Amino acid sequence: MNVKEKNILDSVIYSYSTESSQISEETRILKDTVNKMREELEKFKAPPLMVCEVRNVFGKDAVVRLPNGNQFYVNISNECGKIKPGDVVLADQKNLVITRKIPSTRKFDIESFVIVEKPKVSWDNIGGLSAQANEIREVVELPLKKPELFKKVGITPPKGILLYGAPGTGKTLLAKAVASSTDSTFIQIVASELVQKFIGEGAKMVKEIFELARKRAPSIVFIDELDALAAKRIEMGTSGEREVNRTFMQLLAEIDGFHPLDNVKIVGATNRRDILDPAITRPGRLDRLIHVPLPKKEGRLEILKIHSQNMSLEPDVDLINLSLSMEDMSGAEIKAVCTEAGYFAIRSNRTKITRDDMLKAVDKVKHEELEEGRDYMNMFG
Ligand code: ATP
Repeated sequence: MNVKEKNILDSVIYSYSTESSQISEETRILKDTVNKMREELEKFKAPPLMVCEVRNVFGKDAVVRLPNGNQFYVNISNECGKIKPGDVVLADQKNLVITRKIPSTRKFDIESFVIVEKPKVSWDNIGGLSAQANEIREVVELPLKKPELFKKVGITPPKGILLYGAPGTGKTLLAKAVASSTDSTFIQIVASELVQKFIGEGAKMVKEIFELARKRAPSIVFIDELDALAAKRIEMGTSGEREVNRTFMQLLAEIDGFHPLDNVKIVGATNRRDILDPAITRPGRLDRLIHVPLPKKEGRLEILKIHSQNMSLEPDVDLINLSLSMEDMSGAEIKAVCTEAGYFAIRSNRTKITRDDMLKAVDKVKHEELEEGRDYMNMFG
C-alpha cells in the first residue's frame, strides 16, 4: 500500500469511527427515551395507593383507618420509614401494605369549614313567633345572662333546645336572634354536610367544633338538618351508616360532656322530628322541644310588615288583605313575595310597588317552585 492509499484508508476509518460514535450516542438517547417511556407506562399501570391514617403501630404491623371509617391490621413495608399513630400513609389497594408515609400538609382549621359569626338579628326581625321567642329567651338567654339566678334557685337549665317545623319558618332566625341578644358567637353546622362532605372526619369535626365553641364562649352551636345525623338507626350495614353513627355518638358525647351552666348552648333544628333518634332528646341533652309552625294570619301580617318595611309601596297596597291571601306560606316564602314584587316593579321601570305587583308575586311564589339559584340576570338580557 502506498502513502496515498494509506491516507485514503485512514480517512475512511476516521469517518466510520465518527459515524459509529454518533450512532452509539443516538442509541443511548433512544434507550433513555424508551426507559423514560417505560417508567411512564408503569406509572399508568400502577393502581392508585390508598391514603389512610395510622391508628396504632405494633412493630412491623399497624392498624390503619381508611377514609370510609373501616379499620385494618396491616403490614408495614421495609421501604417505609418510621411511622407513628396519627401519621397519614399510603397503602397498597389490594393488601393494604403501608408503602410510604406522606407529610401531613393539612392543618385542620375548623373555622374554614363552619360558619362562625356574631349575628345581628333582633327579636323584632322575627314575626309571628313570640311564644317561641319567649321560650328560647327563658331556656337559652337567661342562663347565659344570669347563671347565678339558676344557682340560687337550684335548678339546671337545658343544655340545648330542638327547634322543629317546616322549612323556612324561622328556626335559623330564632337561633341567630338568641346569639345576638346574648352577644354570643354563632357557630352553624349543617349536619348533612358534616356527614357527606367530611367522610371519615365527622366525629373529629364535631370534637373540634365544640372545642371552638368553648374557646369562643359564650357561644351558640346551631346544628341545622339535625335529622341527617340523628335519624333513628334501622341497621348499620354500610360503612357510611357506621360513619354517621360515629359522628352522632361524638355529638352525644360532647353534649354529655359539658355542664348546663357552661356558656355553650346547642340549638338543633329539623324538619323531620318524626325520624329523630330519641337519644338526642333524652333528658340532659336537647330536651326542650320547640315547635316552629307555619305562621297564622297575624303572624303572616307581622312577617309581611317586617320584610316590606323598607320597600316603597303605593298606597293601594293593603298588607292585611295580602296576608290573608298567603295561607300556608312560610316566612321565607313571604320574604320571597316581597322580593318578587320588587322585581315586577323594576321590570316595569318603576320604583314603587303596586298592589298588582304584590298579587302577581304571591301567585308566582305560590304556584311556581322556587328553584335555587334562579338567574335573575335574565331580565337584563
Ligand atoms: P330551614 O328549615 O329550611 O333551614 P328555617 O326554618 O331555618 O328554614 P330561616 O332560615 O330562619 O328558616 O328563614 C329563612 C328566611 O326567611 C329568613 O332569613 C327570614 O328572612 C325569612 N323568615 C322566615 N321566617 C320568618 C319569620 N318568622 N319572621 C321573619 N322572617 C322570616
